Amino acid sequence: MPTATFRFYEELNDFLPAGRRKRDFEIAFKGRESVKDMIEALGVPHTEVDLILINGISVDFAYILQDGDRISVYPVFESLDIRAATHLRDLPLRETRFIADTNIGNIVKYMRALGLDVHCDLTLCPREITRISNQEKRTILTRSQKLLKRRDVTRGIFIRPGTTVQQIRQIIHLLSLKEAIAPFSRCLVCNTPLVKTTKESVYDRIPPKVRAFCNDYAYCSGCDRIYWQGTHFARIKQVVDRILGP
Ligand SMILES: [Zn+2]
Repeated sequence: MPTATFRFYEELNDFLPAGRRKRDFEIAFKGRESVKDMIEALGVPHTEVDLILINGISVDFAYILQDGDRISVYPVFESLDIRAATHLRDLPLRETRFIADTNIGNIVKYMRALGLDVHCDLTLCPREITRISNQEKRTILTRSQKLLKRRDVTRGIFIRPGTTVQQIRQIIHLLSLKEAIAPFSRCLVCNTPLVKTTKESVYDRIPPKVRAFCNDYAYCSGCDRIYWQGTHFARIKQVVDRILGP
């Protein structure tokens, strides 16, 4: 049977069993196998892959494996000087808009607190999440490898286990999002961008205690909420500061 030698780099190793991490390993295959199908059969979602070199030459997902091929597989934004190489996407996963899978919990609220656009609807099924992702160019955030392996998924990030702070730092790092961050510019509940408003215009809707100490208010036209820098804000700001900290 023909064989090919694989090696996966950096965090792609998280998807492999211990014996295959950060080392060459040989795989036997039958007939015509595309490199994409082979990579997914080994457990790595294609959305995590940005560059494939075969015998030192970059190829796309459709490449059909040949006997004796040596395959190096790199994640999105692995820093390599590979000017001549073909990245699998023109602008790999640089969209700063997201759609949340139903399994990622707390990070939606805190990503919105950073001003990032995260669509989240807990009633969506994987097919609908994928459709919205493609239609609106939103990167899927999920803890499901199965979802990322769907053929029609083109952008997605696998959220690795960890704290909310670690998970969001991972996303910011992967997509170089630092410049897209604008804390407290978006509604935590419905994702609508907030607009600044005056104390006078919301006077009747805020508790007297708040009026006394707070002069800055923001309004969400999506869900008719008023935001001010109270105790709830302080708690969220603590987490935001840890996400953006060193
Ligand atoms: Zn809102």
